[in-house]
Amino acid sequence: MEKAGIYIHVPFCVRKCPYCDFYSVPYDPALAARYTEAVCAQMQLAPRVQADTVYFGGGTPSLLDPALIARMLEAAAQRFVLSEDCEVTLEMNPATCTAEKLRALRAAGINRLSIGVQSTDDAVLRQIGRLHDRQGALDTIALAAACGFENISADVMLALPQESEAALMKTIRELCALPVTHLSAYLLKIMPGTPFAAHRPDGIPDDDDQAALYEKSCALLDRCGFVQYEISNFSRGGRYPSRHNLKYWHCAPYYGFGAAAHSSVGGKLYSFPRSIDRYLETFGGSGCPAGLDAAFCAPLNLETELSAQDFIMLSLRLTAGLDLDELERRFDYRFPPETLRRLDVYARAGLCERQGRRLWLTRRGMLVSNALLAEIL
Ligand code: SF4
Repeated sequence: MEKAGIYIHVPFCVRKCPYCDFYSVPYDPALAARYTEAVCAQMQLAPRVQADTVYFGGGTPSLLDPALIARMLEAAAQRFVLSEDCEVTLEMNPATCTAEKLRALRAAGINRLSIGVQSTDDAVLRQIGRLHDRQGALDTIALAAACGFENISADVMLALPQESEAALMKTIRELCALPVTHLSAYLLKIMPGTPFAAHRPDGIPDDDDQAALYEKSCALLDRCGFVQYEISNFSRGGRYPSRHNLKYWHCAPYYGFGAAAHSSVGGKLYSFPRSIDRYLETFGGSGCPAGLDAAFCAPLNLETELSAQDFIMLSLRLTAGLDLDELERRFDYRFPPETLRRLDVYARAGLCERQGRRLWLTRRGMLVSNALLAEIL
């Protein structure tokens, strides 16, 4: 049976970045301790299945006392059958990093860090409200490697306000020269309800310029030995893809814990509301877990069922593309002849390729993937 992933949402930040719409509240150590116990209580509801990834996302998981991270990992190890080579990732904000914390996280079982660098240009970092500066980001990566982390991912944002192409290329080059095994490169998206949506900053590149920045970033990463495996994700030498994130793109099962966490269980997608208060009410009480034993999905909201469309959309984010046999086996779905004809047209235009029963988007196709998917779904 396919091994599951475990996602733990840590919804605390020092302060909100103006572009971010992830769920988080101001950090409060006492609240974080209560929240940790509630996550451990929620774990008791999960079925005892095999899992080979754990991912602490946020928010800012690196804000927490490593003892709390260790506590949640122990609870996961008690409830799930974790594989020996389990990938255990923690998102880290450079502003929260110390050698002591890194060593404690390593000892707790974290073996992969995802560090939110975004840029190594101090003016750009200030513009997007980040707490760290260029030196802080570079030092965090070096320190993480010195503390024994061999699998380090860095997040970079593309098309940031006032960022020149040269500054972006410098960021990527600098990161590639460090002991970074994986790089995520996402275009800045202005999300509704964020301060950036209310007051759009000057100097955000237009769509054409964004496309050019994306293509140049991909080309530079190619030259630096990073292999693209997903629209926005690259791994050094092709050897370090994020095993956890691949579960999302492969429509594999994952169990989400915490406020705002999502889960995919039995072909259905669930979520918990974006509310710590609701979360503590549900899982923070004394008798709750025993009363709901082995009913992981019961307290969650059912969002939707995984569909053939989801599978197509997520598979086509990957350079490995879509396995048409798997699509048929899992969802009993075949593309209608009209769609296949359309795909042939896209292939002639250099937007996708098809070989046997596998279909994938080219880099140019990835750039227009939303429009292309709208046509074939
Ligand atoms: S970008 Fe990260 S640090 Fe900033 S508010 Fe969002 S979750 Fe918190």
